[in-house]
Amino acid sequence: MSITSQLDALRKRIDKACTQAGRSPASVTLLAVSKTFGADAVIEAVQAGQRAFGENYVQEGVEKIAALRAWSQAQNQAAGLSPALQWHCIGPLQSNKTRPVAEHFDWVHSVDRLKIAQRLSEQRPAHLPPLQVCLQVNIDGGANKAGVAPAQALALAQEVAALPRLVLRGLMTIPEPAPDFETALAVHRRTRALFDALQASHAWPVPLDTLSMGMSADLEAAVAGGSTLVRVGTAIFGGR
Ligand SMILES: *Cc1c(COP(=O)(O)O)cnc(C)c1O
Repeated sequence: MSITSQLDALRKRIDKACTQAGRSPASVTLLAVSKTFGADAVIEAVQAGQRAFGENYVQEGVEKIAALRAWSQAQNQAAGLSPALQWHCIGPLQSNKTRPVAEHFDWVHSVDRLKIAQRLSEQRPAHLPPLQVCLQVNIDGGANKAGVAPAQALALAQEVAALPRLVLRGLMTIPEPAPDFETALAVHRRTRALFDALQASHAWPVPLDTLSMGMSADLEAAVAGGSTLVRVGTAIFGGR
């Protein structure tokens, strides 16, 4: 199947999950995870109407952002329109890789410690809007997994929200693969409860409105559990 028809089928899948959960389809954003796929694949998705893309690997992401900008400018000259794309960094971040992220991405979902957040804030160029961030939470305590512990999330969120060049928008999780819908849903509900508690516990400069959870395999459970953004790669671009 083409990327266009996969995207079409996926939007229907998300809309159905929303309807079944009694939610508006407009309440769930689709982030297309284009890691390992080339600029051509992203262009096809853009032509099918997709605007937000997620990348895991910094160098690969930066190259694709440049390729899409060049494509977009050429389109612009040809047709007088240039779709504004949004780039989300969703992969693990080392502190020596923060600069290209701060300089090229619009969002980062994988902030899990203060040092990374401080570097992103310091390195965010003045001519760009602030970087939008989510804290990655290790909701199920998976061993050697990235993410702040749920008990530390509020303290980290307050420190991150106070940084001048970042805007804290919410939380992100990558739970362990679950054997069935109910097990997946229970973990997503725990994340949603933490998100709700966080929203209510502090006067945030910008309301926390983003709960980034759900991938190709578990997006129905994530939507039922209260996700506001699903990150989907395989179901759009195919296997990696
Ligand atoms: C790869 C990846 C995804 C997409 O996973 P699929 O199973 O291909 O949909 C989502 N989130 C993160 C953090 C990823 O690394």
